[in-house]
Amino acid sequence: MSDKETTPEGMTCMYCPTGSYEDGTTTMTLERGPTTLVVKHVPAYVCSHCGDAILPDDVSKWLDDAMDAAEAAGGTTVREYDEPKTAATGGAVS
Ligand SMILES: [Zn+2]
Repeated sequence: MSDKETTPEGMTCMYCPTGSYEDGTTTMTLERGPTTLVVKHVPAYVCSHCGDAILPDDVSKWLDDAMDAAEAAGGTTVREYDEPKTAATGGAVS
């Protein structure tokens, strides 16, 4: 939020000379031991040319927690990105 804080949006790609990062979503595949986690529609800055993605800090933390849950469940988990775990684990049922 401060001036010194920059987002990767519009930044030149780190992997190709012609692309730049744009606000978008990507599909992340994470593997840890025998466990595979696939998360669709992950908010990220995605290179318009090569598709390289940069994840915001909170998203990468969310993926870490999701990976813990996937590892507890075992096998392969495919899911959509949703709100941070505080929203998903709320006790209130509407
Ligand atoms: Zn690129």
